[in-house]
Amino acid sequence: MRILVLGGTTDARALAGLLQGRAEVVSSLAGRVRNPLLPPGEVRVGGFGGVPGLVEYLRDKAIDVVVDATHPFAAGMTANAAAASAGTGVPLVVLRRPGWTEGPDDDWRRVPSLGAAAALLPAVGSRVFLTTGRQDLATFAGLHLWFLVRSVDPPDPPVPRRMHSVLDRGPFSVKGERALLQEHAIDVLVTKDSGGSATAAKLTAAREAGVPVIVVDRPPLPAGVSVVADPPACVAVLEEAYGLGA
Ligand code: NAP
Repeated sequence: MRILVLGGTTDARALAGLLQGRAEVVSSLAGRVRNPLLPPGEVRVGGFGGVPGLVEYLRDKAIDVVVDATHPFAAGMTANAAAASAGTGVPLVVLRRPGWTEGPDDDWRRVPSLGAAAALLPAVGSRVFLTTGRQDLATFAGLHLWFLVRSVDPPDPPVPRRMHSVLDRGPFSVKGERALLQEHAIDVLVTKDSGGSATAAKLTAAREAGVPVIVVDRPPLPAGVSVVADPPACVAVLEEAYGLGA
């Protein structure tokens, strides 16, 4: 069985590990990160060239199943995967970890988009910890607030004028996040609803410090796709629905 795993996430790497020796797996990365964490097994890097390119790839490589294990905000890739699956009949399973849930001591403001987060920000705080990734900084570039920006690679312009950049890659600890909030006198945190444990410590630290959090909601999934929440559940579906062997 040949499986294409659309990756760039911790779950995609874990899935590739679980499938080692059980299927021929190709993991695909977009190529955004200069020095990416690589999954075990075969890896390809770079876009396919839209839906037509992905359709051609699936046919050329005789892919039996596609698993979309991209980040919950990689909506373009997910839409392309759904369209290519519909066009070729190659089944698609979407591996999407659940989003985060607000607890009683949290102070969260949910917004539907990054633009809505930028619009709300000045009313909530002035020293912002922005954790939405370096690709999304342009949305915040026009704001006259102070930003602590964390990303894996250095941000490219346009970026906020008053900004301190920290280069780091998760997982992050509550101790480390607490220290960042204190050191930079952060009074508001902005995050996508990425879900998962690797980057959840900032939410705990914000709760403890009474710092409000602007949470950007996930884009919707394409209609009718089959969704699983974690890598073991994905393996189970591959076994039960698509005949993945032992
Ligand atoms: P996107 O906007 O949904 O995708 C834009 C284009 O990038 C796609 O149409 C595709 O190009 C290419 N692409 C995306 N993921 C790919 C993959 N796994 N393999 C090959 N090509 C891919 O995606 P994005 O938000 O830029 O995210 C890019 C990657 O970073 C994803 O793999 C995602 O898992 C990871 N990531 C994203 C975020 C985030 O917040 N968005 C956070 C952490 C990690 P073609 O049309 O040419 O095929």
